[in-house]
Amino acid sequence: FDYAAHLKSAIRTVPDWPQPGVMFRDITPLLQTPRTFRLLIDVFVHRYMDADVDLIAGLDARGFIIGSVLAYELNLGFVPIRKKGKLPFTTVAEEYELEYGNATVEMHTDACRAGDRVVLVDDLVATGGTMMAGYKLLQKLGAEVVEAAAIIELPELKGGELIRTAGLPLYTVCSFD
Ligand code: IMP
Repeated sequence: FDYAAHLKSAIRTVPDWPQPGVMFRDITPLLQTPRTFRLLIDVFVHRYMDADVDLIAGLDARGFIIGSVLAYELNLGFVPIRKKGKLPFTTVAEEYELEYGNATVEMHTDACRAGDRVVLVDDLVATGGTMMAGYKLLQKLGAEVVEAAAIIELPELKGGELIRTAGLPLYTVCSFD
């Protein structure tokens, strides 16, 4: 059974969204269908169940959907890495570049402890900027990021290359050219 192809086929492509020329990869059909949602989470659960992980960190916002369920299934805690201005307690912040302008992600300073083994989760890696920002935040707090995980990788945008070259292993279920 080719689970990766099955999961890939549940992802919808929306052309010209949010702007002309962009092919948006939409995971909502995958989440909406019980069998594919469960299969997706099971794939991640099996990958990390024996990896001695302490914590799952998820990136705002689709990383929360996958990351929180994965954490629950692995009997681990979940930490949200949020867009700027959403977290109430003291934070560490990391700014990164978008296609137009900048963005900042934040994490609570007590979200993890030095030496914690963390898996960092998002839905998709494009340029890799978002995942790298999350990685840097976790590193600031001394965490050991075991692996970054996403459903989709867009190899053309070379985000996977950027992440792996930085020394962070990256696991993705499928790719779109
Ligand atoms: P990057 O920082 O360029 O790698 O972009 C990845 C971030 O943008 C992730 O948080 C994704 O949720 C979001 N993103 C970019 N393109 C898409 C897409 O086609 N579908 C869903 N999310 C996307």
